[in-house]
Amino acid sequence: PSSTPRTREEEKILVTVRVRPLTPRELANYDLFAWNCTDDNTLTSTNLNHDRHTSTYTFDRVFDPSCPNRSVYEQGARDVALSAIKGINSTIFAYGQTSSGKTYTMKGIADNCINDIYAHITNATASRFVLKFSAIEIYNETVVDLLNRDSGALRLLDDPEKGTVVEKLTEEVVRNSQHLRSLIATCEDQRQVGETSLNDRSSRSHQIIRLTIESSFHDESGCVKSLLASLSLVDLAGSERASQTYAAGARLKEGSHINRSLLTLTNVIRKLSGGKKSGHIPYRDSKLTRILQSSLGGNARTAIICTMSPALSHVDQSRNTLAFATSAK
Ligand code: ADP
Ligand code: MG
Repeated sequence: PSSTPRTREEEKILVTVRVRPLTPRELANYDLFAWNCTDDNTLTSTNLNHDRHTSTYTFDRVFDPSCPNRSVYEQGARDVALSAIKGINSTIFAYGQTSSGKTYTMKGIADNCINDIYAHITNATASRFVLKFSAIEIYNETVVDLLNRDSGALRLLDDPEKGTVVEKLTEEVVRNSQHLRSLIATCEDQRQVGETSLNDRSSRSHQIIRLTIESSFHDESGCVKSLLASLSLVDLAGSERASQTYAAGARLKEGSHINRSLLTLTNVIRKLSGGKKSGHIPYRDSKLTRILQSSLGGNARTAIICTMSPALSHVDQSRNTLAFATSAK
């Protein structure tokens, strides 16, 4: 709706890296801390990595293991999240190998988003806001409603106005911040229900929580204006499912190690950040990218928080994550 020109800073994808602490298990196994967060933007491999030269990576922000969720939100997600209140579709992803801290990070992002969005709504006396909540899981290219698992596999439909929509997806009108918290908690429980049937489900599935925010207000001349946008919070499948060793030239087979949605997402992000605006962006190659199409690229704003283990035993996967993060800048 708004045609305010966007600055270069607003156009690019915000890419940050979060290094978690060593877990009790890694410590018990005498694993070692293999990375230095040298400053707010820089990550360097220690010589434990057996590099001939230490490698250095720079990003919009590097969060060291002592960094709390609050700061990760403020510096890695806040601006993007609040765009949704201003009518701009936005998406926040956590990308990283299994056990690197994606779920921990997205839970912190969701908690902070709720507080921030409601603080904004409470202060904006001139506007009326309607929030709607929905949540899905994509597992093996099957879309499931996390508010109603019983509805089974949901179809994607192409709506001429709204783009790709998930058929029969439950959308709850959010009453207040408490209600929003309980909806998110329900989805967390639902995700764990699925987990018992196949123990590595969460490493293979994507979870998307979507908040649709509609606001109406009176402009200077007293006319009622309205804005509509969505904020998508995405906890991705483990990035080992898009591992480059497998992805390089390998054909995508059903039931193979590679996760189609994750691989397609990485391709889409690479193309978007490559700045080739006219090139073909393969949104239609997976369920995840079809669902997120209107929230990625174009006018939308995107933040990617890449999570990694600091452990020496995970250096290869961490390097893959950093290579993806670099290609997304
Ligand atoms: P993933 O979702 O990527 O598989 P999790 O978010 O489940 O990983 O994190 C793995 C473990 O590490 C969990 O026990 C989690 O509580 C812990 N953890 C992750 N990130 C942090 C962090 N920044 N600070 C403290 N503990 C963390
Ligand atoms: Mg997880």
